[in-house]
Amino acid sequence: MNGPDARTGTASLDDTGKARPWSRRPEFYYALTLFTFALVLVGNGVIGQGGVLPAHSPAVAIFFVVFGLFTIIMGYLQPNAGYVSFDRVAQVASILVLGPVDAAWVNGLASLLFPWLRLREGKPLGSIVIAALNNAGLMTVMILGAGSVYVALGGALPLQQLDATAGVALVGLVVTMQVLNDIGMRVLFRLEKGVWEPSINGFGLAVEVSGCVAAVVLAVVFNTLGMPVTGLLLLVMGLAMVALAQFARMRNRLQLIVDERTRSLREKTRQLERLATRDQLTGLANRRYADEFVDRHVEEHARYQRPFSIALADLDYFKRVNDNYSHEIGDRVLQRVAAILADTCRSADVVARYGGEEFLLCFPETTADAAAAICEKLRRAVAGHDWEAIRPGIRVSLSLGVAELGAGVNRRQLLNAADQRLYMAKERGRDRVVA
Ligand code: GH3
Ligand code: MG
Ligand code: MG
Repeated sequence: MNGPDARTGTASLDDTGKARPWSRRPEFYYALTLFTFALVLVGNGVIGQGGVLPAHSPAVAIFFVVFGLFTIIMGYLQPNAGYVSFDRVAQVASILVLGPVDAAWVNGLASLLFPWLRLREGKPLGSIVIAALNNAGLMTVMILGAGSVYVALGGALPLQQLDATAGVALVGLVVTMQVLNDIGMRVLFRLEKGVWEPSINGFGLAVEVSGCVAAVVLAVVFNTLGMPVTGLLLLVMGLAMVALAQFARMRNRLQLIVDERTRSLREKTRQLERLATRDQLTGLANRRYADEFVDRHVEEHARYQRPFSIALADLDYFKRVNDNYSHEIGDRVLQRVAAILADTCRSADVVARYGGEEFLLCFPETTADAAAAICEKLRRAVAGHDWEAIRPGIRVSLSLGVAELGAGVNRRQLLNAADQRLYMAKERGRDRVVA
């Protein structure tokens, strides 16, 4: 339940945007108030109901503090459920052995101590103080509340046998505990993160309920069979908790590895997709992509008859650029032409490198006339570009042939039509558009 930014402690941005030290944050005051309230309740209970272990030696109190700490430490982080722990085992068992008042301060003490163990994980002091006060306060109130409901429903203390009355009282105890815990966690979430986030899900709830069942068994054994048998039971339970926590941590680690692998595979797939559909030199779409794009529009045209035009563009006397300057300069010219075409076309258009110095332009929702106008713009942009900046003396121009898709025409026929007009543009002197 403690997200990485939930208790940053030393300084955090509040809603006015200013950094606040932890000692002046609302959750600190809330935790302090809760803790004080719990102290008053326990003090009252000790005086009024004769708490502080009338029937047990202090060793039993120490045992439950240590066992409580152990059950919290054996917890683990569960994705979506937050910190899942077996602490219900110690809490419920202690109520059924010691009664609500002594169980309240014993478990409050364990909750007060636990956060300090996380100091060595590098948790800031502020978070630890707030967590300690909040957890101890909430734990104490929760145990007192749930224990009182248990007693009010006629639950026996110490619990020695299971009968209908005990069953009803135990259900009351568990439900009260869960409700108080949920309210407490929601209030803290609200203060820390500004949302009423549910602090528990189905899995977490199942762990808590089975913890309660184990606690009942532990308490009855403790109350009827004494320490040696309880010791054996604890050994079995303790080993099971260690094993479960180990298993959960291993599962989390594996999950992290799988997530990481999945991420890198997705990234690789994206790179491969890019490689398969892009031209290396210019970064434009490649011939395969353009062919598929045209095919899609040929199919759509058969159904919806939406206008669709293409143009084949070919650089004029490009061989001379290579011959007179160099292949490398030729490549730079190709890249520059590609950039001009891509920048001048609309985002819905596709500009592809179709062959060596030949480009295919696709214009969805565009008639031949409109496509010719765009091509004229492209021709001017290429012819008017400052090619001298690459190498003095270079001249670059483009010839274009435009064709519009008609009924019953396939890709090959459409491309032939564009190619024929490109040939005508070359014939008529190059640096022109034929539509
Ligand atoms: P025309 O006006 O008739 O199209 O004349 P042209 O010289 O452009 O036509 P031709 O087909 O004879 O020559 C095309 C040249 O394009 C030949 C080749 O050297 C060059 N070319 C093709 N692909 C590349 C490339 O990737 N890089 C470079 N630098 N040149 C290329
Ligand atoms: Mg050419
Ligand atoms: Mg050519």
